Amino acid sequence: MSAVRLSTARHLLGWYDRSRRRLPWRALPGERADPYRVWLSEIMLQQTTVAAVEPYFREFLTRWPRIADLAAADLDAVLHAWQGLGYYARARNLHRAARAVVAEHGGKLPESEPRLRQLPGIGAYTAAAIAAIAFGRKATPVDGNIERVMARLFAVLTPLPRAKPELKRLAEGLTPARRAGDFAQAMMDLGATVCTVGRPKCAICPLRDECAARAQGIAEELPAREPGRRRPLKHGVVFWIEGADGAVLLRRRPDKGLLGGMMEFPSTPWRENRWSEAEARREAPAHSQWRSLPGVVRHGFTHFELELRLLRGKARASGEGRWCQVDRLSELALPSLMKKVAKHALAQIAAPAGKKDSPQRH
Ligand code: SF4
Repeated sequence: MSAVRLSTARHLLGWYDRSRRRLPWRALPGERADPYRVWLSEIMLQQTTVAAVEPYFREFLTRWPRIADLAAADLDAVLHAWQGLGYYARARNLHRAARAVVAEHGGKLPESEPRLRQLPGIGAYTAAAIAAIAFGRKATPVDGNIERVMARLFAVLTPLPRAKPELKRLAEGLTPARRAGDFAQAMMDLGATVCTVGRPKCAICPLRDECAARAQGIAEELPAREPGRRRPLKHGVVFWIEGADGAVLLRRRPDKGLLGGMMEFPSTPWRENRWSEAEARREAPAHSQWRSLPGVVRHGFTHFELELRLLRGKARASGEGRWCQVDRLSELALPSLMKKVAKHALAQIAAPAGKKDSPQRH
């Protein structure tokens, strides 16, 4: 490691020792990190903020204090506790991984990156974070925050995502053999609190003297990005099916794929062409006199936007799916999209006749 890189790591670690964030999953100075806490927090933090994660993290640890407790939990209970964090595949994988850790590793997370990556839901970033933070291995987790710091520190002009391999190499080159876990957490803290998106706080940055982007006055312009593509818009029609006693019909989505294993109101497939009402009716899971409910429900997924229209009908109870009284829907582990659907349907059904014709967007 060159002298410049050594001094960069030293400055960053010194700053971390003085200014580290206190987080419920983080070990205090001198303590050993708990691998379960590190793993749980890293999975929860994907796509979400620290403030949003903290109550969920505490709740999970209270209910399932050890990996073995999580492994023994019912999947629906885990999904229910996850409600609001989004990306439910993470919760399902967490649960599957806990079972694999108990079955194959005696209830302890493996320490090496390759073995960690064999567990469901643990990709390159999470494996490196756990290996470094929980086990002190020389490993370098690189996420969007750390890419931003590297792009600025070394004034990398190549746009993302093309620059990713280069930014990872640069971060690896800075990682010290000792305190790799603290170094990773220092990078995370710097990206979250000082070298932030938009306007970095260079005046208080521990790396200001070695930062190339600051010296060149281009920190705010980095990282460069390829011009973005718009997310496609998909369409679907939901069937709001009421039984004789007022319960509504739900079904479980297939385990694999988007919102896998979650409960949903039956719907047509989602596609880029709009559905005509006649086409949609042919996809209905029951015979009924369908009535269109006004308005649409909009929802953004990572790779596409979704617009759902609703058809309301009555049907007899059948063996298919699960009926649920509307006032008990909150007890189900519904994904936020389906909560929006329920909210929209119930608002439209409750609205006086004259007020039902204004399209609503959520
Ligand atoms: Fe980021 Fe500014 Fe620090 Fe450079 S000096 S690493 S741009 S905060």
